[in-house]
Amino acid sequence: MTLRLRFALWVAALLLVALAAFGAFVYFSLAHGLTDALDDSLRLSAAQAIAAIKTENGQIDLSDSIFRSGSAAAELHKRDVTLRVFSRSGQTLQTLGPYLDLPLAPSSLAKALRQDTTFSTLTDAHDNDPFRSYTAPIVENGQVVGVLQVLASLDDVQEALARLRQALLLGSPLLALAAAFGGYFLAARALAPIDQIIRTARRISADDLSRRLGLPATNDEVGRLAATFDEMLARLDDAFRRERQFTADASHELRTPLAAMQAILSVTRAQRRSPEDYEAALTDLADETNRLRGLTEDLLRLARGETPPEGVSEEIDLSTLLDDVADSLRPLAEAKGLALICDVPAGLTVTGDRDALIRLFVNLLDNAVKYTARGSITVTARAGAHDLRVTVADTGIGMAAEHLSHVFDRFYRVDQGRTEHGTGLGLAIARQIAQGHGGALTVESTLNMGSIFTVSLPT
Ligand code: ADP
Repeated sequence: MTLRLRFALWVAALLLVALAAFGAFVYFSLAHGLTDALDDSLRLSAAQAIAAIKTENGQIDLSDSIFRSGSAAAELHKRDVTLRVFSRSGQTLQTLGPYLDLPLAPSSLAKALRQDTTFSTLTDAHDNDPFRSYTAPIVENGQVVGVLQVLASLDDVQEALARLRQALLLGSPLLALAAAFGGYFLAARALAPIDQIIRTARRISADDLSRRLGLPATNDEVGRLAATFDEMLARLDDAFRRERQFTADASHELRTPLAAMQAILSVTRAQRRSPEDYEAALTDLADETNRLRGLTEDLLRLARGETPPEGVSEEIDLSTLLDDVADSLRPLAEAKGLALICDVPAGLTVTGDRDALIRLFVNLLDNAVKYTARGSITVTARAGAHDLRVTVADTGIGMAAEHLSHVFDRFYRVDQGRTEHGTGLGLAIARQIAQGHGGALTVESTLNMGSIFTVSLPT
């Protein structure tokens, strides 16, 4: 069942329930109100009649009452009201009006003799017409001398109620039907953009993620859905593009050492050579294989992600780790005439993967040495409120601002000329390790002045 059909049915069902409740309320209030009004008029007629009836020494004198007055009788007839006077024993003494042959209920008579009044609803045995009756005592000096009964037809009341019932029973389904149609068309209107989303989503394949819904931006649910859908497509598109770029770059990088090895082999095998030549060729081949191995390891690491796997996480003395890394790279720095200063207080600890953290700081220090011609490299570490900050600062060639947002991208190199031996993967791996530890890696740099890389690790 479609959403719009379900919506239409719900609207109709809810309206029907509401109409039924409202109709019942109106019906019963009207029934109550009309009966009350009739009862009031009966009570009034009875009071008038009793006031007109004369009593003398426990006897009812009807000789000079409304029963004799033609105009009063006509008036009662017009109002369709019947008056009946009974003796204490229940014998009919006098009547006036259209409904005369209904029996006086014994319970009403008994109550009247106790000076009490009764309202009751009866039906005429002949034609099944309903009546309302009011029975009241006729009292003289505190003694009941007779009983008066006033009767009126409930026809008008019943007719009014029947008409209302008809209107409700006929009108409610019609209204519900109209509401169902209205609900259907409203839902269809509101859901039209969803159909458009479905059609577009069907047309989008992994090869062509450039399509967008491009629905007009509205702040309703559907508008937000469409916008979210477009954003998701943009992210997927971006991710796919980067993935493709990565594969292309990786293949390209792997081809370079392989081509070099092929060249060495074909040159060496072109003629007979001296043992020294073969040795030199083998050394060259070993260099290229080393490079290939380093590259494939980096690629593997990037593909795996550097999140510390469960269990590998351990408590690490970061101060000692930084000292050791600095010591291992100091010969490299000193060979270039650079000072490597390690300004790290003792006792800093983090939890994480020791090998990964070593790789991270070796990458940063290695770059600092590579891209600094003179001056010094300084490693500092400070404990903050929630994290540890390690900086690696150099006085090297630095980078222009436009490169700063890209240096952490895989295979990104600022300038092919100045980094003949780099792969462009070192900083990508370093950032991945920092993020894998819940931290971050950022850079500040000025061209020809130096760079500062900052690693923050949560404690
Ligand atoms: P690479 O293997 O080329 O060094 P990285 O990912 O480690 O790859 O670095 C990316 C680029 O960022 C490098 O090509 C280099 O131009 C620049 N870079 C990295 N570290 C520094 C630094 N300390 N000073 C200047 N430039 C740097």
